[in-house]
Amino acid sequence: MIGIIGAMEIEVAGLISEGKNISCKTVSGIDFTSCTIGKTEVVIAMAGIGKVNAALCTEAMILTFAPDLIINTGVAGSLSSDLNIGDVVIADSICQHDFNTTQLGDELGLLPRVNLVKVPTDKNASEQIAKIIEANGINYKFGTVASGDQFISSQDAKNYIIDNFQASACEMEGGSIGHVCYLNKTPFVVLRAMSDSANEGACDDFPAFCELASKNSIKILLEFLK
Ligand code: SAH
Repeated sequence: MIGIIGAMEIEVAGLISEGKNISCKTVSGIDFTSCTIGKTEVVIAMAGIGKVNAALCTEAMILTFAPDLIINTGVAGSLSSDLNIGDVVIADSICQHDFNTTQLGDELGLLPRVNLVKVPTDKNASEQIAKIIEANGINYKFGTVASGDQFISSQDAKNYIIDNFQASACEMEGGSIGHVCYLNKTPFVVLRAMSDSANEGACDDFPAFCELASKNSIKILLEFLK
């Protein structure tokens, strides 16, 4: 069984609408929709925005449904000149760019209990998804996805994440979903389509392109599940 988590309704509604044999269960205020897509059993949830909401959703999903794999799908800001709006990043690792205990001698971004800065994603599932993206002719790359509880919309903030974490995209959930999955030994994947370029233009681009980018992620994921 595969668990799917999006932050916003626009990132998951197009998946739920393709589900058959639907049943719902609410845990910690989050609606979990169990269904089949193709022959795959899935449970889909909208976590809400940010790392705490995403962590809560991931833990509730693991404890309640014990999925074999969790996929975080949605949109992100591009940190790479190779990734334009609508293009896709598949995370080979995730990190949390706002985690900082360097004052006490730790490496920047070191995650307590995980004891890593970058947490690896599931290689096998990520590569299967990459094949589908290639077959659809969508531009994509593997890279680090950096999460933090901030909407990134300035070149300075963007450069900070690129320089310190060599990340390809920034968003607000994947890092905490990966953190929770790692501690629960649940394999995970992060798939994000670019809604903006995390620079000064992001405040206009995000509302304009969020739907287009969400549709790209959903299309890829539906094909993977089917
Ligand atoms: N109240 C707004 C908040 C959106 S926050 C709303 O509901 O529309 C942006 C969302 O898209 C987050 O879930 C984040 O994961 C992702 N995202 C896209 N571009 C981003 C960027 N430049 N910086 C941070 N997160 C981004």
